[in-house]
Amino acid sequence: MPKTLITLFLLSNFAYAQVDIELPELGDRVSGAISEAEVELLSQQFLQQVYSQAALIVDPIIQEYSELLLYRLSETSLVNDRNFTVILIDDSSLNAFAAPGGIVGINGGLFLNADNESQFASVLCHELAHLSQRHFQRNVLRSQDRNLASALILVSSIAIAIATNNPGAFIAGPAFLQQQSLRYSRAFEREADRFGFENCVASGYDPKAMGEMFENMAALRRFYGDNIPEFLLTHPISSTRVSDAFNAADQLGDIGGIRNSLNYKLIKSRLEADYEDLPINAMRVFENKVLNNSNIQNIYGYSRALSLNGRFEESLLQINELLDIYPKNLILNTTKVEILRESKKYEEALILVNEQLEISPKNYPLTIEKARVLRGLEKTIAAEEILRDTLLRRNLDPSLWFLLSEIQKDNLNVAGYHQSRAEYFILLGQNERALNELQFALKLSQDNFQTFEIIMIKINNLREKLNKRI
Ligand SMILES: [Zn+2]
Repeated sequence: MPKTLITLFLLSNFAYAQVDIELPELGDRVSGAISEAEVELLSQQFLQQVYSQAALIVDPIIQEYSELLLYRLSETSLVNDRNFTVILIDDSSLNAFAAPGGIVGINGGLFLNADNESQFASVLCHELAHLSQRHFQRNVLRSQDRNLASALILVSSIAIAIATNNPGAFIAGPAFLQQQSLRYSRAFEREADRFGFENCVASGYDPKAMGEMFENMAALRRFYGDNIPEFLLTHPISSTRVSDAFNAADQLGDIGGIRNSLNYKLIKSRLEADYEDLPINAMRVFENKVLNNSNIQNIYGYSRALSLNGRFEESLLQINELLDIYPKNLILNTTKVEILRESKKYEEALILVNEQLEISPKNYPLTIEKARVLRGLEKTIAAEEILRDTLLRRNLDPSLWFLLSEIQKDNLNVAGYHQSRAEYFILLGQNERALNELQFALKLSQDNFQTFEIIMIKINNLREKLNKRI
C-alpha cells in the first residue's frame, strides 16, 4: 500500500478520535489496570485493521496447526485468558506479535526461518510472555497520554504497520506514537525472553531452541542489510541475548526435549512450496530436494508443488506414498481430500473426508474441506449448514463468512448472501458497506418477520456505531 494512503487513513482515524472527547482515561488509578471492556475495544480495533489491511494466509490446515500449538504452549504459560485469536499474515519475512485481548499474529516467514518446531515455539512462548506480563497495557499506562482515544490510534497504527510490513507507518502518528509500537523496552524484552524460555521448557521443548532461534535471527539480520524486517527491528539480537538464552539452557543440563514434529515439517514444506514465486519453480525446487533426500517433508512439499501446478495425479501418488507410512496423520489425510477436490474427484473426496470426520468430529480443516467438496457436488444447502455450524465456534473469522456468502450465492439464497457479506464487512470494520448489504437483505426479508427483526436490530446497531465514529 502506498504510504500516502496509510497517512490519510491514520489522519482520518485521528479526526474520529478527536471528535470523541468523552472517552475515559485508560485504567483506574488505584489498580493501574486497563478495564476488560477497554482491552476488548482495543483488540477489536486491532483485528479490524489487520483484517482489512493485511494479506492473510487462508489455509485451515496451517491455521489449525498454529492454534493447537499455541493452546498447548499456553497451558504452561502465565496467560490467564486463553481465548486467543491467531492471525496468519501472508508475508515471507520473519515476524510474530501479540496484541491486547489474546491476539497472536504469525507471519508465514516465521515458519520459513525456524528450522524446527522447538525454535518456532520459542518465538510463540516469547509472545505469550508479552501477553501474560501485559506489556502493551503497561506501555500505554506509562505513556504521558493515557486516554482511550490515543490508545485506539496507537493500536490502529501498530496494526497497519504490521499488516503492511511497513514500520514507517508510524511516522504519520503523533510524536508520542513514534516511540511506541510493539517495540518494548529492553527490560520488557528480557522479561519476555525469561518467561518465554521457562514456558517452552515446561511444555517439553529443548531448552537450546531459543538460543538457536536467536542465532537464526542474527544471521538473517546480516542477510537483510538495511532492509530490516519489523521483528528484527523490534527484537534486536545482542550477543547478551544469545548468551543469556544458551546459559539458561546450560544451567538445566542435558535434559533433552522435543526438537521437531512431523506436523511442523509438513507445514513448513507446504509454505515453502507456496512461497516460491512461481508454481513451476516450486516444482523444480522440490523435485531436486526429493532427488537429494526423499524424506517426508520433501515428498510432502513436492506433492504440494505438483498440485499447485495442476498435476493432481502425480501429487496424489506422492501423498499416498506418505499415507502408507503415516495412515492416521490428519494433515496428510486432509491434504489428500484437498487434492481430490481440486482434481474434481468429489465423490472420492467425500468418502475420505467423511471417514476422517468420524475419527475427528468437527475438525476445522476437514469441515471446511467437506463444505468445499459438497459445493463441488452442488449440494450447496448441506455445505451451507456445515459452515453455519462451524461459524458457531468461529464467528470472528472473516474468511469463513466470505466462503459462506459465496456458497449462498451458488444456492441463490440472496438474502443470506447479503447478510453474510455484512458480517464479513463488520469484521473488517467497514461499517458503511455492511450497512448497505444489510439494507439489501432487509428488502428481501419482508415476508419473514423473524429475519426482518434480526436484520433491523443489526442495522440500528451499525447506525449507532457510525454516528459515534468508533
Ligand atoms: Zn518481544
